[in-house]
Amino acid sequence: MDFDRYFTSQLDTLHQAGNYRVFAELERHAGGFPRATRHRADGSTHDVTVWCSNDYLGMGQNPKVIAAMKAAIDQCGAGAGGTRNISGTNHAHVLLEHELADLHGKESALIFTSGYVSNWAALGTLGAKIPGLIIYSDALNHASMIEGIRHSRAEKRLWRHNDPQHLAEVMAADDPSAPKLVAFESVYSMDGDIAPIKEILDVADRFGAMTYLDEVHGVGMYGSRGGGVAERDGLMDRVTIIEGTLGKAFGVMGGYIAGSRAVCDFIRSFSSGFIFTTALPPALAAGATASIRHLKQSQFERTAHRNNVAKFRAMLDARGIPHMRNPSHIVPVMVGDAKKCKWISDILLDTYGVYVQPINYPTVPVGTERLRFTPTPMHSDGDLRHLVESLCDLWSQCALSRAVA
Ligand SMILES: *Cc1c(COP(=O)(O)O)cnc(C)c1O
Repeated sequence: MDFDRYFTSQLDTLHQAGNYRVFAELERHAGGFPRATRHRADGSTHDVTVWCSNDYLGMGQNPKVIAAMKAAIDQCGAGAGGTRNISGTNHAHVLLEHELADLHGKESALIFTSGYVSNWAALGTLGAKIPGLIIYSDALNHASMIEGIRHSRAEKRLWRHNDPQHLAEVMAADDPSAPKLVAFESVYSMDGDIAPIKEILDVADRFGAMTYLDEVHGVGMYGSRGGGVAERDGLMDRVTIIEGTLGKAFGVMGGYIAGSRAVCDFIRSFSSGFIFTTALPPALAAGATASIRHLKQSQFERTAHRNNVAKFRAMLDARGIPHMRNPSHIVPVMVGDAKKCKWISDILLDTYGVYVQPINYPTVPVGTERLRFTPTPMHSDGDLRHLVESLCDLWSQCALSRAVA
């Protein structure tokens, strides 16, 4: 077989469908976020403002986080030195796990190399190791949960997105004595909608199910200590396992679960994706710990962030730029056409110095193509004005419809 020819032909189909992914090559500047230098393919560079980062609060450049990481490198060196089982468990990992257990009011926590791996490994292990487990998965769950459930080979049932009534119907159709797990997210990243967590927990309780909540887009952002939407709503103690990332609002890298001592020890002991991989560098763990500690106490970032999101939405409304109404910090501006979506984001980047990645099918349904904006506390009023004026220009050029203000 001519493998490269096969690869190229498969890539051609992506190109033809307009689904080929092109990465913007950025150089971030500590202290300058959301500004970055973009490197073009021809080697030239220019300055851009990043509008689609998941470093929602700019913690990736927080001086306490940077200082903690530098100090850890000076003290412990670069890498962890092994898997958690074989010489890789550093003191910094244990401190981070304590910090996370405390953040979520749980007995225990377990860190992984990413949020993706934590979902894949935790759901994969639970589904494979609890005999007869049925997993009830929200229809819009993240790829990492889907892959973990698939890998586990457990029975899987889909329920309509954010629809606890449908969940109840689906659960009622199964053997009442079968062990059950309900897996869902708090903030969904593409529409920015928030799950009715209490209602879902009520249904799960009625059927004696354990619950697994992905708070990746909620941690650091919601709740008075940044414990997520479940903290804000006073529901953390009712969730069996809370999963989160250290790579978005906390600004570093890594993933985790928090739960009872028994469930964390179970996953620690039986999960291949936890055991057979090198532990996070101690500096990452130290940086994440500093970030979590800061956001447990400081309301400044969360408040400034909410204000900027509200300001941005009001400016879009004033100019009739259509955006999806949702209760979160994610602002999807709707284009509704894959080619125009890509074209607008290309011009924004090249001509206006505005970087926002186009979101097209298959990430979102055809006809709902969008630009997903994540304003941060570091975006100035001038940045917001420049962005909205740029969007207005392009909306006119593309003859896109305006919302009635
Ligand atoms: C980003 C994301 C993850 C994965 O987290 P990483 O730390 O980036 O690997 C998991 N779940 C959801 C909903 C996400 O958006």
